Amino acid sequence: MAYITLNKNNFFNNLDIIASHTKSKDKIAIVLKDNAYGHGLLEMASLAQEYGITKAVVRTDEEARSIEELFEYILVLGDIPEKPSSKMRYTINDIKSINKFPKDTLVELKVDTGMHRNGISMSDLHDAFIQIKDSGLILEALFTHHKSADELTSEWFWQNDNFKKIKKEAQYLAQEFGFAPLRFHSANSASLFRTDSFDEDMARVGIASYGCLEGFAKLLPVLSLYAQKLSSRVVKKGESVGYGGTFTAKESLLVSNYNFGYGDGFLRSSSNNFVTLNGVKQIGRISMDNSSFLSEEENLLIFNNATDAAESAETISYEVLTSLKSSLKREIV
Ligand SMILES: *Cc1c(COP(=O)(O)O)cnc(C)c1O
Repeated sequence: MAYITLNKNNFFNNLDIIASHTKSKDKIAIVLKDNAYGHGLLEMASLAQEYGITKAVVRTDEEARSIEELFEYILVLGDIPEKPSSKMRYTINDIKSINKFPKDTLVELKVDTGMHRNGISMSDLHDAFIQIKDSGLILEALFTHHKSADELTSEWFWQNDNFKKIKKEAQYLAQEFGFAPLRFHSANSASLFRTDSFDEDMARVGIASYGCLEGFAKLLPVLSLYAQKLSSRVVKKGESVGYGGTFTAKESLLVSNYNFGYGDGFLRSSSNNFVTLNGVKQIGRISMDNSSFLSEEENLLIFNNATDAAESAETISYEVLTSLKSSLKREIV
């Protein structure tokens, strides 16, 4: 099997940099959804806890329950629980879902400030408060998500302005409806790194903690992926390699086959286009459990920076990372 190593020093380096932006470890909510962006949920959750992170963000209730012991606060982005919990907060993504949460659930209200994907519309705020109160839910926070924090457009400022307006209104409503003062958060990685004057209650940080936020070289990639050699052969001039024979040797070449294919998460669209950091070329079509490289090494470093690997598949580091199957062995180094 191909295997993953997780670099603890790099992870802690990234958390140091993030903490210098949030001005406190306590304001970092580490995003661990989708198997911690392919790094391994339990591995990254334990490391984050060791560093002193107290807050986490996941997608499902099941993920939250599996790391419950490690954090003081867990925000679940996309699930409705069967019963409330004192640690988990659940996201209200839609005004029509409010009556589906069990009584006494701690909830956070997501507001659509311009992304138009999830969240209640700004004009529904008062209605949402009525329904939350009627359903016996405990509202603790209001949050929003940016659609283009990583692009230098004015959209980011416009969404911030919208959020500012809604914060004011919500704080006023919280008082009127008898909730404790609300917490507010809007920043993901790109948004946090766009400002020097972060002043919200927490930031939801994913890709920056894994070291793959583009444009910030001091953040260091945490995950490296290695594959092991299964076989080697000399391919003669004119012979082709792999399904469909999409690579033909122009001269005699030493080709080895490694145990990493699209069944493990190696994007097939990288075929014939992927080069490792050390300049080793992948050739022929990537198949389910195999891929061929111009290499003889027993343990080949496929990548140690998902951002580089993303280019060959014309995608983003997020997809490269979350494609990595949970069955791959992960080791903290
Ligand atoms: C995934 C996600 C994040 C983290 O985004 P990064 O760009 O990885 O920092 C933050 N907030 C929400 C709502 C998300 O879905």
